[in-house]
Amino acid sequence: MASSSPDHLIIGGGVIGVSAAYFLARAGASVTLVDKRGVAAGSSWGNAGLIAPNHSVPIPGPGVLTQGLKWLFDVESPLYIKPRLDPELIRWLWRFRRFCNETALDRAIPRLRDMQRASLALFRQIIAEEAIACDFEEAGGIVAFRTEKGLEAGIAEAEHLARFGLKTTILDADAVHDLEPALHPGVIGGVFQEEDAFLTPHKFVFGLAEAARRHGAVILDDAEVLGFETAGRRILRVRTRRGDFQPKRVALAAGAWSTPLARMLDIDIPMQPAKGYAITLPLPEPSPRHYIIFGERNAVATPMGGDLRFAGTLELSGLHEGINLRRVNAIRKAAREYLILPDDLPKGHVWQGLRPVPPDGLPYIGRSPQIGNLVIATGHAMLGLSMGPITGQLVAQLLQDQPTSLPLDGFEPDRFDLKK
Ligand SMILES: Cc1cc2nc3c(=O)[nH]c(=O)nc-3n(C[C@H](O)[C@H](O)[C@H](O)COP(=O)(O)OP(=O)(O)OC[C@H]3O[C@@H](n4cnc5c(N)ncnc54)[C@H](O)[C@@H]3O)c2cc1C
Repeated sequence: MASSSPDHLIIGGGVIGVSAAYFLARAGASVTLVDKRGVAAGSSWGNAGLIAPNHSVPIPGPGVLTQGLKWLFDVESPLYIKPRLDPELIRWLWRFRRFCNETALDRAIPRLRDMQRASLALFRQIIAEEAIACDFEEAGGIVAFRTEKGLEAGIAEAEHLARFGLKTTILDADAVHDLEPALHPGVIGGVFQEEDAFLTPHKFVFGLAEAARRHGAVILDDAEVLGFETAGRRILRVRTRRGDFQPKRVALAAGAWSTPLARMLDIDIPMQPAKGYAITLPLPEPSPRHYIIFGERNAVATPMGGDLRFAGTLELSGLHEGINLRRVNAIRKAAREYLILPDDLPKGHVWQGLRPVPPDGLPYIGRSPQIGNLVIATGHAMLGLSMGPITGQLVAQLLQDQPTSLPLDGFEPDRFDLKK
């Protein structure tokens, strides 16, 4: 039975919110999680499933904006910005521009690396302790290239990441095909990312939610948050479709929807929802043993148990959940360029999800300076699954006034607040 006054109320049942609920419940705290639809109903369901410390790179980087502008009107490009006069998008792009340089990149890499490494250790521990069947594989991944220019850029990125202790192996054509026989003969080389793992994301999040329930968490579906009642610097009441809650503390972990929810509290968390698509189909023969990033196309193929998932595109078109089949077909086309695939490959199940993307590519994790009993945990962009368990642990520590297992500087939720 849900108490209307739990100690902790988590808003959002994606990997971030469920991880927070899990760590709180495991520590014996009273916690209720509310989601407007259900567990893993957002981008945590159908993402590419990578846990990728080797790829600790934020979205903004040198050259990203220039490339994005070149692709602006190409509906099949990996990065697409729907042209529109939206002041929030313009402000976000303006801020994003400031982080498209090497200094910002070098500041972000070690932070993302430490978060992902800590998270990978937690994945191992939780999956073993809670016996979660989620096709977890620590087989690493390959960034595969078809062109000399692409391979050169891949090698330059690998060398850059090596400066931060992220070791990868450069593979020539023979070595890449020996390692991964499912690669298309047109692939001329690649980068092996040995440290990385992958899994079926919704199976992990459902399994974690079950484990959280076993430890005492209450998880409510169809419980959309509709508003807040505050007094001074505190949330007194959270109104949902399943009644009102009067928690002592609240964590906002509603992914791309966190921005409009925070606005109800007069808090500005600048983010753009970046839509991506996934196509899931039965694993064909030959089946890849690693995840494969299509180097020149910014898309990926991940083996997930008996399935194979292609995922990609980054589309800035607001909080809309429609599917653009031209962009989905561009991913299918790319897959045929990098993998040996049968002619009669099934069309598969098509899914879309919205990544929550801050302008600097770093998550927002911390106490809200405006509201004393609120913790914010969102903005994980392309690495939300990967950083899910560690973020959940950090949120649980913040809510319980414990020291955090990693430093949070650089993740401050108010770092873009002009009123500060
Ligand atoms: C195509 C694609 C591929 C990706 N691949 C990877 C990958 O390989 N590795 C990786 O680490 N990351 C990947 N990501 C990113 C990752 O999926 C996200 O960063 C992560 O899922 C975000 O989790 P979240 O819990 O913050 O948000 P979500 O999973 O979106 O969850 C937010 C939840 O909040 C709920 N909610 C919204 N509004 C309300 C409300 N008013 N009241 C109550 N609940 C509400 C929603 O229903 C939803 O369940 C990918 C994303 C996409 C789209």
